[in-house]
Amino acid sequence: MPSADLIADSTLEAYLSEQLPSANAAEIESQLRNSESLRERLAVIIARRDVGQHGVGDIWRTARLSCPTRVDVGRFLEGSGEVEERDYIRFHLERVGCRYCQANVDDLRNSDRSETDTSKRRKRYFETSVGRLGHRPE
Ligand SMILES: [Zn+2]
Repeated sequence: MPSADLIADSTLEAYLSEQLPSANAAEIESQLRNSESLRERLAVIIARRDVGQHGVGDIWRTARLSCPTRVDVGRFLEGSGEVEERDYIRFHLERVGCRYCQANVDDLRNSDRSETDTSKRRKRYFETSVGRLGHRPE
């Protein structure tokens, strides 16, 4: 397995254009998860190509390449999970600007809020019931 530093820009370009055999693309994806410097290089290439007519960043975003799972995104929002995974998801959301995953984030945040409301309501109900039982003499 070549180290991330040995991956040529032309290979990354081919990856973005989905011209790599799937085994090689999978290899790049796993390197991206582990190497911050590789992610930086890819971000630069995306930015450079976005300036051109091709809008490769858009193609990449549309194809949802290397999207984390909804479970991974949920862990990311909770602040748990491996550091490498968190860095990758942050890169994916902020640098790649994946709209699909951003929608997942919004959705997870909303459902999280309503869950919290429900447990608050339950707690209030419970406290009211306890209150009705009256105080025991100490
Ligand atoms: Zn995504």
